[in-house]
Amino acid sequence: METTLRGVGVSHGVAIGEVRHMGTAVLEPPAKQIPAEDAEREQGRARKAVEAVAADLMARGNLAGGEAQAVLEAQAMIAQDPDLIADVDRRITVGSSAERGIYDAFSHYRELLAGAGEYMAGRVADLDDVRNRIVARLLGVPMPGVPDSDEPYVLIARDLAPADTALLDPALVLGFVTEEGGPTSHSAILARALGVPAVVALPGAGDIAEGTVVAVDGSTGEIFVEPTAEKRAQLEAAAAQRKAALAASTGPGATSDGHKVPLLANVGGPSDVPAAVEAGAEGVGLFRTEFLFLDDSTQAPTEEKQIEAYRKVLEAFPEGRVVVRVLDAGADKPLDFLTPADEPNPALGVRGLRSLLDHPEVLRTQLTALAKAADGLPVYLEVMAPMVADRADAKAFADACRAAGLRAKFGAMVEIPSAALRARSILQEVEFLSLGTNDLAQYTFAADRQVGAVSRLQDPWQPALLDLVALSAEAARAEGKSCGVCGEAASDPLLACVLTGLGVTSLSMGAASIPYVRATLGKYTLAQCERAAAAARAADSAEEARKAAHAVLSGE
Ligand code: PEP
Ligand code: MG
Repeated sequence: METTLRGVGVSHGVAIGEVRHMGTAVLEPPAKQIPAEDAEREQGRARKAVEAVAADLMARGNLAGGEAQAVLEAQAMIAQDPDLIADVDRRITVGSSAERGIYDAFSHYRELLAGAGEYMAGRVADLDDVRNRIVARLLGVPMPGVPDSDEPYVLIARDLAPADTALLDPALVLGFVTEEGGPTSHSAILARALGVPAVVALPGAGDIAEGTVVAVDGSTGEIFVEPTAEKRAQLEAAAAQRKAALAASTGPGATSDGHKVPLLANVGGPSDVPAAVEAGAEGVGLFRTEFLFLDDSTQAPTEEKQIEAYRKVLEAFPEGRVVVRVLDAGADKPLDFLTPADEPNPALGVRGLRSLLDHPEVLRTQLTALAKAADGLPVYLEVMAPMVADRADAKAFADACRAAGLRAKFGAMVEIPSAALRARSILQEVEFLSLGTNDLAQYTFAADRQVGAVSRLQDPWQPALLDLVALSAEAARAEGKSCGVCGEAASDPLLACVLTGLGVTSLSMGAASIPYVRATLGKYTLAQCERAAAAARAADSAEEARKAAHAVLSGE
């Protein structure tokens, strides 16, 4: 009998197929004592396994490229953490086997991370994944992860480790569903980058039996378990219709009455550029440069290395706009050489622009590299700072840009509610705003973006978030400046219409979402978008806001 489950749709499209579960078994090796004379050999085995797993993660990263590569490389670094290795060695010296030493050392580290605050939830999943891989290698059992299957399937997992998401083969994995993770978690961002339909934050998904047929609607967040023939036909027809509409929609982003809303791509580095160009991106609205820095968390990449990477992205959009975000380190993206190790709550600590102002030489090198990379290219370079809190932050950033001789527009990301509330004051210092709705939601609702349990509050349809978007857009309009959105909110086609109605001037998203947003935006006039925006803001919940906007736009 057909049943319907509802999670959070994070990547568009419909997938229908049999369920396969992710191998998540945590292997606990026996706690037997080894003789002292075996210690050295066991230490050698442990090290070899760690090195092999790190090399495997790096190789997976190379294969995947883009944002996934940086995430996997960061995981490889966790595996080789010198403190962890020293702890494994010590445990083996006092009688643990290699596998047990790894297991216990990682468990200890896990407890430290878990106790360091909720924001670490995402990293705990990474740590568990690395541990399971090393232990599996030592025990000679299959690696946990994506199931082996020659037939296409719908993947169900508690949460997807970056190592697995990166290797999902779109030809085999029709779609995926996770019990944990929110709409702005890195798994969701990676799913969109892959173009695979996905639903997250669906508790109970793990109970769906292996081999059951499900239909996943990544736009609505619905999962139909054992869908009837009628439902399948209906979903397939809707998907085919959407595909046809997508193919028919090309050119710059605009409403049906010609109000232009440039559609830009979010990229993590040069390897994301081809997909952006293919999707018809009119430029880059968010170049997350921190992925360049995650290779080596002990020092910044050299100016030459930075110039090379920036130039590759800038060259891809002649006459286009490329918005580069300076390094956004800290919280879920810590860097040893920048991020204080002992913050009680790093998401509220020294992160983003705050780190850069504490380390002006890192900011200077990055801005100088950008100036050199853009030199002689016909691109419209814009540079923005993450986590701007007030006018003083905006001024410090603009001063640093001027001092580096950068010929570009300088902007501020609106990710902290104070920046939205005082947007006009910030605009006295910078030329544009870009709304980072992922962090803006996190800070507005005090809801960690890595924690599935609070994903309701991370929903970008929350009217309070829409109010802050409206405030920022109105301030920019009053100052004659632009205000884009580069958070995940921009990738929801219906919400993109609402954001347009709120006065947002450009939308930036993962390349795979661009055709969907372009097609939907092109169906409505600006006045319709404005009415949908007003209706959404008048609602009392995200769910109602979504329904109200839908009712206006579909003429119900
Ligand atoms: C955001 O916070 O919305 C954003 C675009 O930045 P990131 O997701 O990289 O934190
Ligand atoms: Mg952010």
